[in-house]
Amino acid sequence: MNDALKEYRECARCWLAENAPPYSGTARQQLSLEADLALGRAWQALKADHGYACITLPTEVGGAGGSELEKVVFSEEEMHYDLPLAYFSISLNNPLPIFLRYASPLWTERLARPTVRGELIWCQLFSEPSAGSDLASLRLKAVPTEGGWRLSGQKVWTSWAQIADWGVIVARTDPNLPKHAGLTYFFLDMKSPGVSVVPIRRLGGEKDLNEVFFDDVFVPDDQRLGQVNGGFKVAVETLMIERYAVTDESGYGPTLERFVELAAHTNINGHSALEDGEIRATIADIFVERQGLRAIHRRALDAFANGQAPGPEGAIRKLLLGRTRQSLSRTALNLLGASGAILGPDAHPRSDFASAWLDPSLRIAGGTDELLLNTLAERVLGLPQDYRPDKGQPFNTPPN
Ligand SMILES: Cc1cc2nc3c(=O)[nH]c(=O)nc-3n(C[C@H](O)[C@H](O)[C@H](O)COP(=O)(O)OP(=O)(O)OC[C@H]3O[C@@H](n4cnc5c(N)ncnc54)[C@H](O)[C@@H]3O)c2cc1C
Repeated sequence: MNDALKEYRECARCWLAENAPPYSGTARQQLSLEADLALGRAWQALKADHGYACITLPTEVGGAGGSELEKVVFSEEEMHYDLPLAYFSISLNNPLPIFLRYASPLWTERLARPTVRGELIWCQLFSEPSAGSDLASLRLKAVPTEGGWRLSGQKVWTSWAQIADWGVIVARTDPNLPKHAGLTYFFLDMKSPGVSVVPIRRLGGEKDLNEVFFDDVFVPDDQRLGQVNGGFKVAVETLMIERYAVTDESGYGPTLERFVELAAHTNINGHSALEDGEIRATIADIFVERQGLRAIHRRALDAFANGQAPGPEGAIRKLLLGRTRQSLSRTALNLLGASGAILGPDAHPRSDFASAWLDPSLRIAGGTDELLLNTLAERVLGLPQDYRPDKGQPFNTPPN
């Protein structure tokens, strides 16, 4: 890491130490979602005032005009605090940058700055009941009408739709074309008539996910992003924008150190769990894996420093961190015994073993484990592509 970046990290660390505590940790305990969201909006605005919000976006839209590496460094430091960031993570990382890339200057002028400051929140309406990993098989339809389009259908797993002001959405505009070719991309006001948001209850109590229903919702044509039937390209661009999302392993779940501490305070057959062969092997395995993942992380940072994008091997990190979070938490729950079943009101998958074990979302969102394995097989190992029977077929005919 060069001196300028070291200095940037040091400044960020000092700024966070001075400013983050009133917005994080104990300050958030027992808050309602509304109160926590208000705290999050205040934190986002404070960051915007000090050049730490949307670090890579241009200053003209409220960003900091910084580098990808600065963004990673700031996120690493910010993750040491338990801040109310979740409400903004999708909004700022995917919909906002793609909106800036395709929207008219008038719309940019109206929506960009308030989004950067957390006053407006966006959701991403891609997944449907029959279209997740295979996004191109989505069915929500958009039919042309005077001045725009009418949208009907359903989306699912939409994070934070219940608090979102705006959303980006992909719809099928021509079912006679092959599935990737008949899609169009729009942004829309989530308060439009005909939009209804229904919450999905999660096992661990998180309140982020929703189903969203569209009943003949009008979207003006100037809210189309990209070409008619060119929406799949824009969708892929949206997913590629966040090139290196999670910055270090502490963001994924309870740390190995926390597990060692737990083992040190637990007895198995009258002896410290740290003397148990299976526990020692678990710790050793995860330690070795962590060193490997840190090497991959350093390589990604080097790629950014050299002006390149990290390669597909980033999929290895997501795959292993997601799997290990659950397997380590499962072993921790075995050590905790009956007390492991207690889920505190402020338990969070980042720091609590029970809620980390109950929450498989890291292994689904942003690419399931199996899809990551496909990526590694095809793009890292060069194995043949997955079998795609519907390739080139019109969407409305059955595959051969
Ligand atoms: C916490 C969370 C937040 C989310 N937020 C959003 C959001 O804001 N907006 C949004 O649009 N979506 C969101 N999603 C949805 C997410 O993108 C999808 O869940 C994901 O793409 C998987 O799709 P699916 O659930 O339809 O599963 P499917 O794609 O149906 O997969 C089911 C199973 O089949 C396997 N599988 C599928 N295809 C293959 C293949 N080719 N080879 C091998 N195995 C395969 C999968 O790995 C999985 O095990 C979120 C999901 C979660 C968990």
